[in-house]
Amino acid sequence: MTDVRDVIIIGSGPAGLTAAIYTARANLAPLVIEGEPSSTSDQPGGQLMLTTDVENYPGFPDGIMGPELMQNFRSQAARFGAEFLTAKVTKVDFSARPFGMWVGDEEYRSNTVIISTGAQSLMLGLPNEERLIGHGVSTCATCDGFFFREQEIAVIGGGDSAIEEATFLTRFASKVIIIHRRDELRASKIMQDRAFANDTIEFMWNSQVTAMNGETKLESITVQDTETGEERDVPLSGLFIAIGHRPNTDLFAGHLELKDNGYLVTEPDSSRTAIDGVFACGDVQDDYYRQAITAAGSGCMAAIDAERWLEETGH
Ligand code: NAP
Repeated sequence: MTDVRDVIIIGSGPAGLTAAIYTARANLAPLVIEGEPSSTSDQPGGQLMLTTDVENYPGFPDGIMGPELMQNFRSQAARFGAEFLTAKVTKVDFSARPFGMWVGDEEYRSNTVIISTGAQSLMLGLPNEERLIGHGVSTCATCDGFFFREQEIAVIGGGDSAIEEATFLTRFASKVIIIHRRDELRASKIMQDRAFANDTIEFMWNSQVTAMNGETKLESITVQDTETGEERDVPLSGLFIAIGHRPNTDLFAGHLELKDNGYLVTEPDSSRTAIDGVFACGDVQDDYYRQAITAAGSGCMAAIDAERWLEETGH
């Protein structure tokens, strides 16, 4: 039988690490199971590990690099006694308290769990894609649009996200090309009309990106016509991938309620899930705002919810 902790936090992006700072400062000695370095975005530190400059996180007037910001979060949590385990949770059991979590055969038990496993942007899976993220390739127009003033850029996708991002990007870019694999958009009619009426937006229909080119930064993309198979190079300094997101909730299917799109359900204005003592924060339960600052804010909520729950239940 392993020791029972007060709090285990699964995931270590802005939400999980903020929950760690708050629970550590409440003397709850949290264990953060932070994930495993991997090639995808469900890694320790979360999606900001895949960005370069972060200019919209309050408190950093000159901006800060994403990985440095996350290292700061982690050091701050460690300073107050949060412990870290660099591993991926492979199984959970929330059917009885204390709750059980496993990393392989190793079991960890706790009275409360804070889930902050985040989400990942869907990517095309092309060879240079990951290397060029933060160097011309982006998955977040709100974060990076500002860097592309008076430049020609493209957005991949045909859903509401792609149209919303493209429309937003016209505030900065001189031209925004929407590259879509079919000849009609999936986005809602009102968003489509807005994009069609915008002179700065052009459409490249029946087209898919087959290569991203550039050594240190994006210089061009190769686009294939899906009908003829013909390929051509398009010079570009910015490429936004907006083909959807996927929450990291596979571990919780069958244990917690998920929305149709896979995100965890939490009570409104709270981090509570349907299981008493299990809380969720950050992008794993937020399919709308998806910002580091909103994730951090919800991590603080989860820490306070967990702390109060422990107190109310006499732990
Ligand atoms: P989505 O609706 O799933 O659309 C994804 C788009 O990316 C589709 O057009 C899809 O093409 C394309 N796509 C997917 N995989 C691709 C690939 N490998 N290569 C090229 N293209 C690919 O995702 P979303 O736009 O992120 O929206 C998700 C949900 O959030 C939706 O319910 C949406 O309505 C909602 N949302 C709402 C708003 C708003 O109302 N303001 C804003 C953003 C999102 P196909 O069309 O060919 O499948």
